[in-house]
Amino acid sequence: LWETVQNEFKQSITPPTYENVVAPAKAYSLQNHQLTVVLPTDYHLDWWKKSLNIQLKHILHEKTGEEIEPIYVLTKDLMKKADPAPDQPTYKTQTPLNPEYTFDNFVEGRTNQFAYASAFAASEQPGGLYNPLLIYGDVGLGKTHLMQAIANNMLVHNPDAKIKYVTSENFMNDYINSIKTGTQEQFRQEYRDLDALLVDDVQFFSEKNGTQLEFFNTFNSLHDNNKQIVLTADQNPKEIPNLTDRLVSRFVWGLTVEITAPDLETRIAILNRKAEEENLQGIPNEVFNFIASKINTNVRELEGALMRVRVFADLHKTSINEAVAREALQGIGNDAPATLSIDLIQKKVAAHFNINQSDITGKKRVKNIVIPRQIAMYLSRELTDNSLPRIGKEFGGKDHTTVLHAIDKIEKQMTSDSNLQKEINSLKKDLRP
Ligand code: ADP
Ligand code: MG
Repeated sequence: LWETVQNEFKQSITPPTYENVVAPAKAYSLQNHQLTVVLPTDYHLDWWKKSLNIQLKHILHEKTGEEIEPIYVLTKDLMKKADPAPDQPTYKTQTPLNPEYTFDNFVEGRTNQFAYASAFAASEQPGGLYNPLLIYGDVGLGKTHLMQAIANNMLVHNPDAKIKYVTSENFMNDYINSIKTGTQEQFRQEYRDLDALLVDDVQFFSEKNGTQLEFFNTFNSLHDNNKQIVLTADQNPKEIPNLTDRLVSRFVWGLTVEITAPDLETRIAILNRKAEEENLQGIPNEVFNFIASKINTNVRELEGALMRVRVFADLHKTSINEAVAREALQGIGNDAPATLSIDLIQKKVAAHFNINQSDITGKKRVKNIVIPRQIAMYLSRELTDNSLPRIGKEFGGKDHTTVLHAIDKIEKQMTSDSNLQKEINSLKKDLRP
């Protein structure tokens, strides 16, 4: 049924929306007239609930003759809820690797290249020098990506390699369930008979003393047998509260590397790469620059922003340009206004007083020009980071003392002239809304 539904959508919406929003959606179950649709991100959730829900109901009705109510859930929530079947051994968390997380797909930059090189080296020689390898850093910077790239690369070299990827919470749940069901032997076998164990986000071991002890033993067993261990954390393990000293000392036995937020060049390179992977052609460079300067910490958000722009442009049936990107990303990321230029201040002031910009930068000494010129100098000092000599230069090469004099004069006059004050305030508002 789901395939039919998707095909219906394909007929009625544009290909990019289909690819971005409809294709990633999966039907999970159809029970009691409820269809559960699984979506990868909040963004998809938003789209389905707001824009596609009615159409989906309509299609479902058309195809089945029944009233079926769609229910949207996020993949991650579904994974949390999924109760293991009662008669299954419950210590066997199998989290599949994401095949897209490869070294090839990872864009190197100044702030991640050491982590990248270490991860690559560990994957080429598992159980060697970099054991354990621990990568730490803030969320969304590529830790999970690199960790899984290690596994994916190991599997290229040796398709039979036994590799287990879990989050620290998975490990804990498996351990607890093994106690409940009296299957600790199997649990241990499962976690120790491996070529590599990858445990993501070990900060969640904090305060879980029983789990820490079990993991300590797992760690030692693997390490003694030269099996590769890879760990990630959101901060330096030494700073994770309530982690036992001996566990911390193990964590930093091999190599500990940090990832920090990518710099502007790397962010632009990442966007270019993502656009290429998504087959998006002809996006102007300004758009990449704009997105990269707006989203300056988290790579996942960077990807999300690009996708948002793409879908927005598609929805409005326009090509992707900077104005569209601005619209699409309103209220997202860092909204610091672009630095104001002296040139713009001169233009606004000139327009406000009905004179030419060349008057402002010129030398005429008539009153109806001198005062606007002084106001423009004052505003340049107030609203930009430019030095007095710099401002002087932009005003037709005037001396910095001239600028200082103008600023002084305006400041003094404002204290006694409330009309001037109002005028300047409204200009300021205009320039810095
Ligand atoms: P973390 O585990 O540190 O929270 P992830 O590994 O989940 O971060 O990365 C978030 C997203 O950003 C993923 O889709 C990942 O592929 C992508 N990503 C992060 N860093 C890079 C990079 N340097 N090059 C390409 N993609 C990256
Ligand atoms: Mg992660």
